[in-house]
Amino acid sequence: MLEPVIINDAGFANKAKIILSPNFDSRPNKFNVSLIVIHNISLPPGIYGGNNIFDLFTNKLNPDDHEYFRSIANLKVSSHFLIRRDGSLFQFVSCLERAWHAGESSWNQINNCNDFSIGIELEGSDYDAFEAKQYDCLNELIESLIKEYPIKDIKGHSDIAPSRKTDPGPYFEWSKIKTYFNQLPNKD
Ligand SMILES: [Zn+2]
Repeated sequence: MLEPVIINDAGFANKAKIILSPNFDSRPNKFNVSLIVIHNISLPPGIYGGNNIFDLFTNKLNPDDHEYFRSIANLKVSSHFLIRRDGSLFQFVSCLERAWHAGESSWNQINNCNDFSIGIELEGSDYDAFEAKQYDCLNELIESLIKEYPIKDIKGHSDIAPSRKTDPGPYFEWSKIKTYFNQLPNKD
């Protein structure tokens, strides 16, 4: 039996490896954490492993390391969590703070989803299936977040920014998310 993930009062998951990102600020209302946003990320796209995602979220990505990095190295972005291909969990920003993962976005006609959401990046792409260990970790994490915060919905980045974003992509299997919400796209 796996040890459960616990979110402590400071907004950090006990099982996460912490790599703090400077890319965050205060939520307008820290008691309003109502949405989970699922993303995928790999740097360069489709290449897994290495430290590039950590470097992006800590503003250390070297634009000379890869052609693709030149377009993103100056972005100030972060996410609360990253789940790597092996199912390991990393956290960059406290859940009590506003991470910069969603960009221009809207959920239930409320704009700026960063204000009230928790961002979870899965190491992956729009062209690959995700690993079973990633779903295991994601389900554990979601369960712990629901215990701690008044989460009302789980959406993909493409659901809240459909004109700009495609992640988590067609290979993300919503049916593998154990917790169902009224607005989940595939709810029976
Ligand atoms: Zn995204």
